[in-house]
Amino acid sequence: MSKTFERIETKLIHAGEPEPRIEGAVTMPVFQSATFLSGTGADNYHDVRYVRLNNTPNHDALHAKMAALENAEAALVTSSGMAAISTTLRTFLSSGDHLLVQNCLYGGTHELFTLDYPELGIEHDVFDPRAPDTWAALLRPTTKVIYAETITNPLMEVGELDAIAAFARQHGLISMIDNTFASPINFRPAEHGFDLSLHSATKYLNGHSDIAAGVAIGPADLIERVRLKLNLFGGTLDPHACFLLNRGVKTLALRVRAQCDNAQRIAEFLDAHPRVAHVNYPGLASDPDHERATTLLDGFGGMLSFEVDGDASEAQAVMGAAQIAIDAPSLGGPETLVTRPSATSHACLTPQERETAGISDGLIRMSVGIEAAEDLIADLAQALER
Ligand code: PLP
Repeated sequence: MSKTFERIETKLIHAGEPEPRIEGAVTMPVFQSATFLSGTGADNYHDVRYVRLNNTPNHDALHAKMAALENAEAALVTSSGMAAISTTLRTFLSSGDHLLVQNCLYGGTHELFTLDYPELGIEHDVFDPRAPDTWAALLRPTTKVIYAETITNPLMEVGELDAIAAFARQHGLISMIDNTFASPINFRPAEHGFDLSLHSATKYLNGHSDIAAGVAIGPADLIERVRLKLNLFGGTLDPHACFLLNRGVKTLALRVRAQCDNAQRIAEFLDAHPRVAHVNYPGLASDPDHERATTLLDGFGGMLSFEVDGDASEAQAVMGAAQIAIDAPSLGGPETLVTRPSATSHACLTPQERETAGISDGLIRMSVGIEAAEDLIADLAQALER
């Protein structure tokens, strides 16, 4: 049985770790076994100990740790962030259902709603997370779910999150929030009344840009329903990836706080730079969501985006001139990454959809790493001044 711990820094290290330690091993070993001896009393298919049924010792340990991080009852790890998102949504949505989705989302999630769900007869409407007065008009008798992102990809908007969770409760909807950009260090959805929190653990939770993983976190009864669906869909996380995620997540607090500090300094530098037209970062006092983000979040995150004067080729030239920041998609690792969302994370939107969302071809998204802020700023300065 695992112990309980008060603060997130301690939970990261100790929550979910086996007690007593297995063979005295301080670090949770990898159980690289697809199957386990019968005879443990399973009277139901889903309780048979088998890797796809998400119940190996590595899964159990990780589930307990992830739930503890967000002060929730239960968690379920998956083979990627999209496996967590798509499996959780399909657990609560079927043909004929309707959902409300935030107006700016990660491109893969957007594509799920716009390309995949029409084939299944699942319809959606888009809501503005800053305008709660407009939401009720979008409800239908078939509306089941409301879906948001804590800090949106790639514009770093922070909507009326408490109001979204309250609206869901008032209208009997299941509220889901992609908490990837904030991480449990900066936002814990259960504390704000959200039913389900989703992560691409490929990003901050694992934090080393070396595995794909996802997690769904929430009440035990809802997570159990998601597990039964995942058991059938098959998006299980391999035990070795569980081991790496369990290892990587231990430094989450240190990494994310360093990333927040670096991002704040870089955002302020960019905001003051004559070649930079606009910076999106909720930590800037001038940001339209700054006040709300200050109330809702414990930190403003390690992600920012900005536009340089000029077109997409100018933006690409700045990215190419950077010596430290690496031109690659994804985020949340120790290294600083830059990407143009129009060519990567949001390439699946049509040009019209990107324009409506406010994602220009020249927008540069930066995942700020844990390098020295001075080095990152000096590098950006030389890249912008070329
Ligand atoms: N959610 C957000 C906010 C993301 O940025 C991403 C990927 O970039 C995902 C979900 C999907 O995660 P994965 O690539 O692990 O499937």
